[in-house]
Amino acid sequence: MNTVQNIETIQLSKVVSDFLNEEKKLFIGGEFVSSSSNNTFQTLNPANNEVLAEIHEASEEDVNSAVQAAKDAFENGQWSTMTPLERGDLIYKLAILIDEHKQYIAEIDSLDNGKPLAELLENDLPNAIGQFKYFSGWASKLMGQHIPVNGDFLNYTRHEPIGVVGQIIPWNFPFMMAAWKIAPALAAGCTIILKSAEQTPLSALYLAKLVQEAGFPKGVINIVSGHGETTGAALVKHPLVNKIAFTGSTEVGKIIMKEAANTMKRVTLELGGKSPNIILKDADLDKAAEGVFAGIMYNQGEVCSAGSRAYVHSSIYEEFVDRLVNLAKKVKLGTGLQSGITMGPLVSEEQKERVINYIEIGKSEGAKLVYGGGASEQGCFVEPTIFGDVEDDMRISREEIFGPVLVVSKFENELEVVERANDSEYGLGAGVWTENITKAHKIANKLKSGSIWINCYNATDPASPFGGFKNSGFGREMGSYALENYTEVKSIWVNLN
Ligand code: ADP
Ligand code: MG
Repeated sequence: MNTVQNIETIQLSKVVSDFLNEEKKLFIGGEFVSSSSNNTFQTLNPANNEVLAEIHEASEEDVNSAVQAAKDAFENGQWSTMTPLERGDLIYKLAILIDEHKQYIAEIDSLDNGKPLAELLENDLPNAIGQFKYFSGWASKLMGQHIPVNGDFLNYTRHEPIGVVGQIIPWNFPFMMAAWKIAPALAAGCTIILKSAEQTPLSALYLAKLVQEAGFPKGVINIVSGHGETTGAALVKHPLVNKIAFTGSTEVGKIIMKEAANTMKRVTLELGGKSPNIILKDADLDKAAEGVFAGIMYNQGEVCSAGSRAYVHSSIYEEFVDRLVNLAKKVKLGTGLQSGITMGPLVSEEQKERVINYIEIGKSEGAKLVYGGGASEQGCFVEPTIFGDVEDDMRISREEIFGPVLVVSKFENELEVVERANDSEYGLGAGVWTENITKAHKIANKLKSGSIWINCYNATDPASPFGGFKNSGFGREMGSYALENYTEVKSIWVNLN
């Protein structure tokens, strides 16, 4: 049993306690403005369900103002005449400011989402800073082609910014997701309305302060807080929004895609997953057990590409499960701001209930609970949980749980296991563990997922694309591929006769 630790939390930075006391307005047209409806909602600390702050909620009218501000900035403002190098400089300046404020942003996300502070400082913040640095360089490298065509013509293409983009993000990596979205859109020259998740609105508002400090022209980046069915939906249906970039559930992704059809918006969707990890009998077991364990338990399992299904060769199955259990025993549950803890609470009571419900489903389906399964009374903690002897048709093996629950199954034959791994509506990530690198490449080619990790899991880099096959969505974030989400290609013909 992993009990919730009772260690003192670190002292919050003064900057953060001051920030928590400020009014949480909307960031529209370069200024912090009140919600036109005066509606607010609360964001909670999931470690104890205490209220962290009251947040102004963007009404449809506020979304309209934000879109108008973004449209004006795109068509007329300083942004539209800035040179690519100047735009790159500004993006880089934002990266530097985020770096200077990373401790504060990490504390804010740890409070709002629950995740361990150390993970924010080691992963989310460096990754977010990396996005802005990486894409700042791309601002000046967006080139079309000169195409040799039939006849006496000069033909060339321009890669132009798509225009006003609406970006809707989830709560699992609040600040990092904002960076994944905003950085490539800026590099392409777009203007933005970002809607944060209602569970974790704080760090995006802190980012708005840095956007102001960096000196972005007004309206280039607008940040609105609010719920999905209201604020989010208003953004998706707005006729002046040219594109929606969404990360979240497959269910909402489908709703957005349908709604976007009415205005022919461009859409990219980064959705759910049920990603497999395949452990062959010749895997380095130390490395594989740690990698597979972290692949599901990292960030409390609230990761769209979490390696939530493990397929272990029957000859190493018992030993591998033992190793996983030993790793689970070492997990230290606690609030994100306690030092030395390795797993925080889930983001909300709702999420806790969802995960507990799946644990019950797993038990009633006859899977063997080999570790965990418990949850805290107070706060949103769920133990790292491992099910063994899981059958492929069980719901816990097919549906995304989005929590610290690993299902483990046996396999005999390598060809068969690839088919079983691919037999999923999702296709976001997949892992292969083996010391036979030829075999690893062959399996990697057969797996139907946007990212394949060989002897590692969940590695990402601003330079390398990330996204889904099948119901995990389409479009790629990061790398040069991300720029395609934010540009239109124009073909220009010049008659040389
Ligand atoms: P989860 O269920 O894990 O919270 P969601 O897909 O519901 O994931 O939420 C991801 C993001 O999508 C959040 O910012 C949420 O507010 C937003 N959202 C939810 N429903 C809609 C909708 N109908 N239209 C636009 N955005 C939505
Ligand atoms: Mg919260």
